[in-house]
Amino acid sequence: MNFLEERIVKDGIVKPGNVLKVDSFLNHQMDIELLDEIGREFKRRFADKKITKVLTIEASGIAIAYPVARELGVPMVFAKKSKSINIEGEMYVAEVESFTHKKTNQVIVAKKFLSPEDHVLIIDDFLANGCALQGLISIAEAAGCTIEGLGIAVEKGFQIGGRVIRNLGYRLESLAIVESMNAETGEIVFRQQ
Ligand code: 5GP
Repeated sequence: MNFLEERIVKDGIVKPGNVLKVDSFLNHQMDIELLDEIGREFKRRFADKKITKVLTIEASGIAIAYPVARELGVPMVFAKKSKSINIEGEMYVAEVESFTHKKTNQVIVAKKFLSPEDHVLIIDDFLANGCALQGLISIAEAAGCTIEGLGIAVEKGFQIGGRVIRNLGYRLESLAIVESMNAETGEIVFRQQ
């Protein structure tokens, strides 16, 4: 088991409805040392890529993307969830259905922060059905960026997102892939990588 898998086993809580709670160390209370280690690990995994920007989605993606961007020495841009109606023009817009809240958000990135010269690394905390990543991919593509890869802290391998994104031909690196989890026993099984 790697450092993140060990922490998930220690402090992660399996909830009904295929939700893994990691709010004591990753997305409510945050373990800064762990996040720094995540940053170093993504830098190592994408060392062969020339990345100019890290792209993520608010809110919990920011905590993961920040140490990655700091390690790579590049800016980080996050897609904002927006309720505004008149945002076309200066913004790239994508529709993202939230896995945890079961509602659709428009997410936006100002056009001035992404350009065809950018080589982006897309980062998020969780991958379930892949809606968040697909929204970020469509924004990066609309901006003409080169997508160098996608990095996820926790992929739930029993949901379709990982397969969909890999089938699209993208390089997807997940630090922990949960193969199965049981809300009654709390057991979590990881995919061997
Ligand atoms: P997807 O768009 O891939 O269906 O879901 C990914 C998004 O939903 C992530 O940005 C993450 O915030 C949230 N998410 C999905 N599954 C889980 C989960 O099991 N636990 C937590 N904490 N967040 C999740």
